[in-house]
Amino acid sequence: MAFSSVLIANRGEIALRILRACRDLGLRSIAVHSEADKHLRHVQLADQALCIGPAAASKSYLDGHELLLAAHLTGAGAIHPGYGFLSENADFAEMVEQAGLVFIGPPASAIRIMGDKVAAKRAMIAAGVPCVPGPDRPLPADPAAIEAAARAIGFPLIIKASGGGGGRGMRIVLDPRHLHEAVELTREEAGRAFGNPQVYLEKFLEHPRHVEIQVLADGHGSAVHLGARDCSTQRRHQKLIEESPPPGIATAEIDRIGRRCAAACLKIGYRGAGTFEFLYENGEFFFIEMNTRVQVEHPVTEMVTGIDIVREQLLIALGRPLSFAQADLHFSGHAIECRVNAEDPFAFTPSPGTVSRFIAPGGPGVRVDSHLYSGYTVPPDYDSLVAKIITHGDSRVQAMVRMRRALLETEIAGIRTTIPLHLKLLDEDGFIAGGFDIHHLERLLSAGFGRPA
Ligand code: ADP
Repeated sequence: MAFSSVLIANRGEIALRILRACRDLGLRSIAVHSEADKHLRHVQLADQALCIGPAAASKSYLDGHELLLAAHLTGAGAIHPGYGFLSENADFAEMVEQAGLVFIGPPASAIRIMGDKVAAKRAMIAAGVPCVPGPDRPLPADPAAIEAAARAIGFPLIIKASGGGGGRGMRIVLDPRHLHEAVELTREEAGRAFGNPQVYLEKFLEHPRHVEIQVLADGHGSAVHLGARDCSTQRRHQKLIEESPPPGIATAEIDRIGRRCAAACLKIGYRGAGTFEFLYENGEFFFIEMNTRVQVEHPVTEMVTGIDIVREQLLIALGRPLSFAQADLHFSGHAIECRVNAEDPFAFTPSPGTVSRFIAPGGPGVRVDSHLYSGYTVPPDYDSLVAKIITHGDSRVQAMVRMRRALLETEIAGIRTTIPLHLKLLDEDGFIAGGFDIHHLERLLSAGFGRPA
């Protein structure tokens, strides 16, 4: 369905990113914002802006009815949800479609399947995507059947809630004697937190890397993968640094798994941009979940492929077939992204406040996605991400050299940011070597990394 205006149902850097893609395509942009966000950069730049409620996200960015009302009032033809907020909410996607608007994302049915982890796993196994060992069915009630399933997997294992998300609804079991109690607890918690007590079992991988594959599918029978990202630098399941390609994994292997992901998209009727998340251990990929939206770390993929992923999302939503095939894609060099959060770099406590001075870095191979400007006040109400600094080079070393230069050039006065942590990580032996597991940063931090001696 054609549309000529897009309501951006998000805030911060991603709202600005979406606005830029709209501009490039000549689409009218409509910003909606909370009372705390009237000074956001994209609100200033948008063709039209509308306040949709108070600072609390539940009363603004998470209020689907309010967003639809705003779309109606402004004559928006489509809604881009960005990431977070309502981006993976199948009911919202359905509401948008029922209102006769275009939801810039996959069909609600695909979001719904992927939002149920055990259903997602079943779909992936059926599509030939490698998954973590374990049954693709929820655990039955019978204790003997639970024990049999656990024995078949072996310990340690992980109990996961089908409806879980955001790192919640998971429990590791090291000792068979704790199995039943852990299953009961996870069921109870899942029922309370997600309204769905279903749980399933999986092998617990002890030293995995987080490697994910970006896909685009046009809904006209064409789907491609855009290679992989390594997002193993994490704290409390929050990614801090991402890179593409993942160090030390053969291009042919990424292409092999990537093609399976693209084929899976066709099989499940997927449309739009999406990410298949894998744990990677001992040379093998194990699917854990699919994100049915654009991701924070999409720029590293854009830097190595030259594809504008948000533009492609808009074109797909406009009903256009992909203008390139897998064989047309070329991967060039290496890209790294550092997430600059408004928080203490080592204690990780939030640091909202007024940015008295902001000077962005520049020069060869540097990209900055940020809504910051001098005088802008970071509100305390939302996610702490204030800038993404992305560098590209012919090699990983060159991308790292450029990242160091870019971080040193960046001035953000008035608030604390994660830049000092990034600078330290760029000097750290494990990071320099690459290919570390998802526990690397936590291990460093618990050993006192970054703290004054
Ligand atoms: P969520 O939707 O809550 O983010 P995921 O399935 O993506 O849940 O898992 C979140 C994190 O939990 C993963 O990034 C990984 O660190 C850990 N995890 C999940 N499954 C396993 C597993 N089978 N073995 C080891 N770690 C796991």
